[in-house]
Amino acid sequence: MVPDESSDRTEPELREYNSFIDGEFRESSTEDRIEVEYPYDGTVWASVPNGTTEDVDDAVRAARRAFESDAWGGLQPSERAAVLRNVADVLDDHAEELGKLETRQNGKLIREMDSQMRGLGEWYRYYAGFCDKIEGRVIPVENKDGKMINYTRKEPLGVVGAITPWNSPLLLLTFKLAPALAAGNTFVHKPSELTPVSALRFAELLSAEADLPPGVYNVVPGYGEETGRALAEHDDVDKLAFTGSTEVGRQIGQQAMSKPVPVSLELGGKSPNIVFPSADLDNAINGVIKGIFAATGQTCLAGSRVFVHEEVVEEFVDRLVERAAAVKLGDPMDPKTEMGPVAFRDQWEKVNYYVDLAEDKGATVAFGGDQPEDLPGECFIRPTVLTDVDNDMRVAREEIFGPVASVITFPDEETVIEQANDSEFGLAAGVWTNDMPQAFRLIEALEAGTVWVNEYRTLTYSSPFGGYKASGLGRENGEEGLEEYVQTKSVWIDTAGEVSSPFKLG
Ligand code: NAD
Repeated sequence: MVPDESSDRTEPELREYNSFIDGEFRESSTEDRIEVEYPYDGTVWASVPNGTTEDVDDAVRAARRAFESDAWGGLQPSERAAVLRNVADVLDDHAEELGKLETRQNGKLIREMDSQMRGLGEWYRYYAGFCDKIEGRVIPVENKDGKMINYTRKEPLGVVGAITPWNSPLLLLTFKLAPALAAGNTFVHKPSELTPVSALRFAELLSAEADLPPGVYNVVPGYGEETGRALAEHDDVDKLAFTGSTEVGRQIGQQAMSKPVPVSLELGGKSPNIVFPSADLDNAINGVIKGIFAATGQTCLAGSRVFVHEEVVEEFVDRLVERAAAVKLGDPMDPKTEMGPVAFRDQWEKVNYYVDLAEDKGATVAFGGDQPEDLPGECFIRPTVLTDVDNDMRVAREEIFGPVASVITFPDEETVIEQANDSEFGLAAGVWTNDMPQAFRLIEALEAGTVWVNEYRTLTYSSPFGGYKASGLGRENGEEGLEEYVQTKSVWIDTAGEVSSPFKLG
């Protein structure tokens, strides 16, 4: 039913996938299907069902049964850890195949997707290590005669409903799935309608090769407004985990609160990347390029507001433009390609809209802003450098999610801190300086969930990641990431078995 994906991408046959529920591919209750395209040339290569409310319900029921089963809920911590390590091994064994699937879905560079897949197993190994360390505390409550014990237990939440975007499908899933499984939860996943295949194949592999019991990880593909909404509104989901736009995140947050269930939200960004005169300019330019042109700018972490000190701005822009002009665009499957297309045509139109808007408001297109003629498909846009940008322009305030660097000149540290923080978002920030006291002042002053100094766009499984302000709620990765998937029970034991007074608290 699901062929070997390691074969060449040009293979013409259309692959038809179903939802993965309770350990098997299951026919959807609808014939409505979604086509999956390769963004480089628009080839349709797969299709998935547009999952219905009944499909979601089927998956949630399977996840509930698995949560209550001996096969999963009854596992000892060390047994759960073994399953997570199996998942890691499966990822290592199938990294090449899964990397190709990711690129075929979202058009991101094969070298980035391949290296993401090769590193993904480490998330599961890291969280496997927590399985037997999810500990409560003994609390020293008022206990004059030594008869009262109070302690806490960290327990799983139950069924997690996860909704994810298209830009790094399996990585962003893993930020949720690895800690959720380590804590003993089960999972229903609605991947992006643009990139549903890698999750379905992953689910199949986990069932076949990782000894993951049926119903622990279920995947129902479909559109957000239908399948996503059905999952977010489902009565028997105990936690919602969402990565995507701030706009949809607000709705998911409201749906979670209406039940209410816990929710974590990883949302958009408009991150400042700040270059001071003392910085090593070569390093800073590399970092700025990594921040905005890597992944064709389609990353929540994009350093899209490039603040450059007025003393160095002229040289910086000249060199940035030179580097942007040299970026090799092409087929993302070619390991030599440095920047691929954006993932779909609407995204391309959105990027162009913002470039035109910026020009109308007085910004200058120092480089790019157009589609190269020698490439196929309709989704390429050159790496774009905008200058004469003001922090109040929409291009500096709204997330573009494309390869557009807005260069904003600043006169001093105080001004740049104020401007960097003057944003509804607060996901990340970069600081380029060799003045360490200055670096520490910025680390403290910047309103962002991640701050890099003389680095950009680095993250790992052990370090918490998440947003300030409208960039999100909660943290993924690290110990903080595990906390999102447990709930605390406080236990009181009166060892003497005497109730002091029925009408008195304490
Ligand atoms: P999106 O919000 O359009 O969609 C995200 C997911 O939500 C998709 O699966 C979609 O089908 C689903 N969805 C849409 N409407 C829904 C609804 N009404 N109810 C339930 N589900 C619904 O985002 P996108 O375009 O897929 O991804 C890009 C966005 O994701 C950007 O804003 C980016 O910054 C953000 N993002 C954030 C992080 C982070 O960790 N902070 C990481 C990656 C991407």
